[in-house]
Amino acid sequence: TTSVMWFRGDLRLIDQPALREAVAAGPDGVVPLYVLDDRLWGRGAGVRTAYLSRLLSEFDERIGGLHVVHGPPEREVPRVAHAAGADSVHVSASFTPYGTSRDDRVEKALDVPLVRTGSAYAVSPGRVVKGDGEGYRVFTPFYKGWLDHGWRDPAPAVRDVPWLRPEGRTHRIPEAGVPEDVTLPPIGERAAREHWRRWLEDHVTDYADERDHPGLDTTSRMSVHLKWGSIHPRTMLADLAPLGSDGAAAYRRELAFREFYADILHQRPDSAFGYYDRRFEHLQYDEPADDLEAWKRGETGFPIVDAGMRQLLAEGWMHNRVRMIVASFLVKDLHLEWTHGAAHFLDRLVDADLASNQHGWQWVAGCGTDASPFFRVFNPVTQSKKFDPDGAYIRRWVPELAGVSAPAVHEPWTMADPPQDYPAPLVDHAEERREALRRFEALRRFE
Ligand code: FAD
Repeated sequence: TTSVMWFRGDLRLIDQPALREAVAAGPDGVVPLYVLDDRLWGRGAGVRTAYLSRLLSEFDERIGGLHVVHGPPEREVPRVAHAAGADSVHVSASFTPYGTSRDDRVEKALDVPLVRTGSAYAVSPGRVVKGDGEGYRVFTPFYKGWLDHGWRDPAPAVRDVPWLRPEGRTHRIPEAGVPEDVTLPPIGERAAREHWRRWLEDHVTDYADERDHPGLDTTSRMSVHLKWGSIHPRTMLADLAPLGSDGAAAYRRELAFREFYADILHQRPDSAFGYYDRRFEHLQYDEPADDLEAWKRGETGFPIVDAGMRQLLAEGWMHNRVRMIVASFLVKDLHLEWTHGAAHFLDRLVDADLASNQHGWQWVAGCGTDASPFFRVFNPVTQSKKFDPDGAYIRRWVPELAGVSAPAVHEPWTMADPPQDYPAPLVDHAEERREALRRFEALRRFE
């Protein structure tokens, strides 16, 4: 018998339970399938497509030929399965709104079973529930429930897969150029594992103390590998388990945040693009204009905001603390809906993840789960002084301020002679804070 392994966000061979199932079900051959789906392929400003194109090539070479097809999965997957005479099609379960509906359509179109084994999470969405069977809405109790639930040990690597290459044309992997000036992160399973091992050796112990300081740049940058499935979080949790440090515990908690947001999105698929707290539909917002463009370019005149936005353009990644600062600025200083900022992030991030991004944004905007209260407005200067005290992060990304030292680097407008080529502040933060709070007050009648 033969089977099809339909790879999606899980292009790896280690800790890959769906592939183990595919091999068990298809001892005579497993077709390694990848479908270029126009609904997903080519989305975004190009960094993600460039990354995926290279990731596919790397995997193709590694397994000696990936069977790539192009078209709607509900047409292509049954066609390939039929041509190969496969008895089953295997996937890791998807939990995004699009992924679940796509898989349901494919399942209906197939005349052999679509077998879902595992997912991109240590504990799949929907599994951690309260006593009444409902999902959690608040992180801390979810985290406790998640730890209590526990997860399996990593699945052993699958060796000697009897890969089967069907006759007929394989679509070539489209080449996608890297957008100008963008540095892509390392690519593929081997790179991910090596990067992870090195990071564990060098940085995990100090993670709890250092994670909020963008200038140090010592967070793991594993988000990109988790997004593309080059490593499974269970592998990472198993590596963290024997370490007793506060850093290892703090890191495990961050991985749980990723699983929490996936669970929330699963509970409330409408929260991908709509307000989790629906009261916020009534908040008064401004229409985006030049201010949104200045924010995207990193030309707001607030150094920490501009540094973050420019890091995003240059690397397709931004430090978590700075993601929070720039998001707060968009919502509470520019009074724009979070969706404008979230869309730009999805467009530009190589690690763009629907659940973590949309809920990261909604948390900052005050309308998400467990949200930081709306009235807690981040002050970009205070945040900057606290988390980038010597201004190293700002100087790295804002060359106009390269010669300015702290504390002036956090608020160059206080200098007697500020650099002429750096913009003046787009807004008066104190004034916009008052305005944000005034608008928020008006929401109270919807409580
Ligand atoms: P580390 O600090 O090394 O953390 C380890 C891992 O834990 C991360 O790789 C990630 O998988 C997970 N994690 C850490 N913090 C969070 C968090 N707050 N929420 C969910 N998971 C977390 N993360 C994404 O993966 N994709 C996104 O599109 C995304 N958009 C975001 C948007 C906003 C507005 C905010 C505030 C946060 C967003 N995050 C997103 C979460 C977080 O910023 C990134 O996961 C983190 O910066 C990635 O860098 P790292 O791997 O070095 O993180």
